Amino acid sequence: MSYSVGIGLTNACNLACAHCYRPTDRIDYVSFADIQTICEQLPVSNIGMGTGENILHPQFNQIVEYLHERTIKLSIASNGHSLMTMSDEHLRSFNDVEVSIDYPSRAQQDGMRGPGNWDLVLQAIERCQAQAVPVSILATLMCTNYHQMDELARLAQQLGVILRVNVYQAVRTDAYRLSYSQFWEAYQRLFSASRVVSCSEPLVRAVMGLGEVESPCGRTSIRFNMRGQIIPCVYWPLGSTNPLTIADLAIQGEAVMQHAFFEQARAVPSNAAACPCQGGCASRRALSGALADHDEYCPWARGDTIDLPWQPAPELNLVRGRNVCTTIVV
Ligand code: SF4
Ligand code: SF4
Repeated sequence: MSYSVGIGLTNACNLACAHCYRPTDRIDYVSFADIQTICEQLPVSNIGMGTGENILHPQFNQIVEYLHERTIKLSIASNGHSLMTMSDEHLRSFNDVEVSIDYPSRAQQDGMRGPGNWDLVLQAIERCQAQAVPVSILATLMCTNYHQMDELARLAQQLGVILRVNVYQAVRTDAYRLSYSQFWEAYQRLFSASRVVSCSEPLVRAVMGLGEVESPCGRTSIRFNMRGQIIPCVYWPLGSTNPLTIADLAIQGEAVMQHAFFEQARAVPSNAAACPCQGGCASRRALSGALADHDEYCPWARGDTIDLPWQPAPELNLVRGRNVCTTIVV
């Protein structure tokens, strides 16, 4: 078995978006030596870089070159800055890349991210397309844009790129959290305007009737934050339990997957054992302080039925396709 690794090389960023989950009390960097330890201790098939703006890591080039030489498939999520700043050679080292666009209009995007970001993300898409690097829009689905998922799908189609949607998780603030009805309206709108390449959001997958709702989180998917802490998901609340770190990985190897966080992420809540979604998203439950309960967006727990028509699209070989809770459409 090989692992899909997500890593925030740093939480440094040139922007300060209100919906961001990264900690801002101090700036940290995962060292190059730590990257080597991860690759030596785990069978890594792919690495997705996220959290901060990764090019702000002083050893970014060295890390990309090392991972590329090891033939690890690479992806990076960016607000446009990393994608516009790295060299052509480094850009082409990525299997595919993602640019964050949460709104289908300049005014809304710049309102969230700052003046000039709309132009920057469009330039980043053009640059990646010119370099023949597959590029996706990465959108965070929130209570402020749930009604625009169909517009975002059409924007991606106009730009000739893929759209990947992640559900907002209330790590730092509830201000962007979706209500139950907003959550499902968002997917109805999204699927009404697009075809589905893949969906690994466990709850949506269950409602789509796709089966295999068992989430990869804490099983084949492992996350390292900028402090070198090992977690099953970037949104996992650390609480009072000490997470393992890359120093522990150097000693324990794959046994780090037996840590309490990973056990909790894998466990199906007993009252959802008969539920088609098998408890949905563990981080969402943990963040709500209801790890042992149903996912707050579970329709079965409410006796509700969701009508979610969708059309399939051909498969695409994207780094983050099936290894985190995400929905990819064209
Ligand atoms: S660009 Fe991304 S990492 Fe930076 S503040 Fe915004 S959401 Fe956070
Ligand atoms: S489904 Fe998995 S990766 Fe996604 S937010 Fe939940 S725990 Fe994290």
